[in-house]
This record gives sequence, structure tokens and C-alpha cells, in this order.
Amino acid sequence: MVSLEDLQKIFRGEIKISEPMSEHTWLKVGGPADYYLKPSDREDILQLIDFFKEREFPYMIVGRGSNLLIHDDGFRGAMINLEVLLAGIRVEDDTVIVDAGVWISTFVNFCIQYGYAGAEMLAGIPGTVGGAIRMNAGAYGGEISDYLLDVEVIRDSKTMTVKKADAGFGYRRSGFINDVVLSARFRFPKGEKEDLMRIRRELLIKRNAAQPVDLPNTGSIFKNPEGNFAAKLIDTCGLKGKRIGGAMISELHANFIVNVQNAKAKDVFDLMVIMRNEVYKQFGVLLEHEVLLVGFSKDELSMLQNTPSEISG
Ligand SMILES: Cc1cc2nc3c(=O)[nH]c(=O)nc-3n(C[C@H](O)[C@H](O)[C@H](O)COP(=O)(O)OP(=O)(O)OC[C@H]3O[C@@H](n4cnc5c(N)ncnc54)[C@H](O)[C@@H]3O)c2cc1C
Repeated sequence: MVSLEDLQKIFRGEIKISEPMSEHTWLKVGGPADYYLKPSDREDILQLIDFFKEREFPYMIVGRGSNLLIHDDGFRGAMINLEVLLAGIRVEDDTVIVDAGVWISTFVNFCIQYGYAGAEMLAGIPGTVGGAIRMNAGAYGGEISDYLLDVEVIRDSKTMTVKKADAGFGYRRSGFINDVVLSARFRFPKGEKEDLMRIRRELLIKRNAAQPVDLPNTGSIFKNPEGNFAAKLIDTCGLKGKRIGGAMISELHANFIVNVQNAKAKDVFDLMVIMRNEVYKQFGVLLEHEVLLVGFSKDELSMLQNTPSEISG
């Protein structure tokens, strides 16, 4: 464990101790993180990362927590949030330069105002640009990496630029698992502002009709398997509306779990296991979870691993 006294010697930003992560996740679920930290400037982040690495103290960056399921026992380590620090967005030579802490909605609006086409597909994704790059978030046929040029990261204690071709992007994945994303540069084709606004409006209407946006959730629980839709498979298993504790498989969208009443992470996790096992039993398809699980033991995680032998019953 890192002591508060030692941490304060090297860190100038905001420190919260034993911070409930339910206050920092979209799903409103998750126990306490030992430390919840907001660095004050870039130097502060670099020093912090070095400090934790030297001490082998676990840390992770958390954006808006919109793709996270954090264990009820919380996270033994530090959660680092960059939303306040890395909040700039600008255009230089037709290139959009955006900091990692900027919300996707702000990024989309900014691009539309400048008449840049391509970001509007991401409207309605509630994360930060950093989280979206880490996840290679996407919707309606577009992904955040589509018009990306490069990403500025902290890797191996150094700040460096990673070109798109070297970023390891795939379906909801990137090679930034162990990096801190600081900023990114994009070059979009030009579009008509009015058209882009219309597309954004239409996509938001579609999204709001199809997803349970009025209840805390964590987006799609499972990735779509090749040539199929996770929601369709789960729905066919008759699981919509299934409830454990305060968590329920959405009646609107079978690949969403909603927090209907003070859900625990365990409620959500148990529903995930049921969804996955039922789909495997009925279709022989092993679903891979898209939502990231934090603070879960190896044994718990093994219940969601992609090996048929793990499936019980
Ligand atoms: C209602 C709803 C709808 C959604 N719709 C979509 C959708 O259409 N398409 C889609 O792809 N996703 C969707 N999501 C999932 C989620 O919004 C995206 O994955 C989003 O990009 C996560 O961003 P975040 O800032 O919340 O990241 P978090 O959930 O906070 O973190 C996710 C991962 O990113 C890492 N991370 C965050 N910031 C950084 C950084 N600066 N540097 C390095 N790593 C970082 C975290 O460590 C973690 O590993 C949806 C979620 C919800 C709740």
C-alpha cells in the first residue's frame, strides 16, 4: 500500500481516499478505490505513473466509467481521472487536436460546428475521447479510429506519439491497454453542417428509442459475435426482464443490464454469467464481454472466459 504521506510528496493534484466508484461509473455500481486522483498538470501525471510503477502499486485511468463494472469490494489501487486536466480541443491546419478528457459529445459537437464529417456517428456514446480511443468505440458503422491520425500517450514513463497504423485497433480494442492516452489528432473530410446536424439528431433518436437511456447502465455488455448480434441471441433465450437483486436485463435491449434499484456489481455479474451460459447452451456461441471488469478475482473472471469447459450445466 502506498501511504498518503508519500503520495502527497510527489503529487500536487486532488486526492480522495476510499472513494466509492459507484459515484464515478455510469452504472452507479462499484465499491471504493483506495485513491481517486485528479492530476493538476501533465508533469503531475508523469510523476504519478512513475511513482506507482516503482512501487508496483496498481492504477488505472477512469474516464466517465461508462464501460466499467467495478467489484463491490472496489479496487485496491488508484483510479486516475483526467477529465478536468485534459479538456482542450482545437483546430490547426484542418486537423482536430483533442485532449483525452474531452467528452465524446463535446468532440462530436465541435467537429460538426467546423463542418467535419465522420464524428457524428459517435453521438450518444457517453465516454471521454481517451476512453473511446482505448476501446475503439464505435456506432452505426463508424469507429473513433476511422479518421484518427495519431495518439499522444504516456508509455514506459515517456510521452510519445503512436501513429494510427501502430495503434492495434480492432473491434472494440486497441493497443493502448497499458498506456495513458493524453490527446489525439484527427483529420476529417468536409461535410455540410446542416447534414451533419441532421444525421446526429436522427442517430440520437434511434439510439434513445433502442436503448434504456433513462436508467443507469453500462452500454453493451457483450461484443457482437462474428455475423450475429449479442442482443438477438440473448433475446431469443427469453432473458429480457430477468432480474437479480437490483439489476435487470433490459426489456428494451437484451444486451443491456440496467440498475433498477441499488444494484450490486455481483447482481450484474451473475446476470452476465447467465446470459453467456444460456447463449452457449442454445446456440453454441461464446459471447465475449465488452464491458471491462475491475477488481474481480481470477476465479470470478474465469466464469466469463472463452473456454467451453468453464460453462457449467
Ligand atoms: C448508454 C451507453 C451507450 C454506449 N454506447 C456505446 C456505443 O455505441 N459504442 C461503443 O463503442 N461504446 C458504447 N458505450 C460504452 C462506452 O461509452 C465506451 O466504451 C466509451 O468509450 C468509454 O469511455 P469512458 O471515458 O467512459 O471510459 P471508462 O469506462 O472510464 O474506461 C474504459 C477503459 O478505457 C480506459 N481509459 C479511459 N480513459 C483513458 C485514457 N485517457 N488513457 C488510457 N486509458 C483510458 C480505462 O482505463 C478503461 O480500461 C456505451 C455506454 C453507455 C453507458
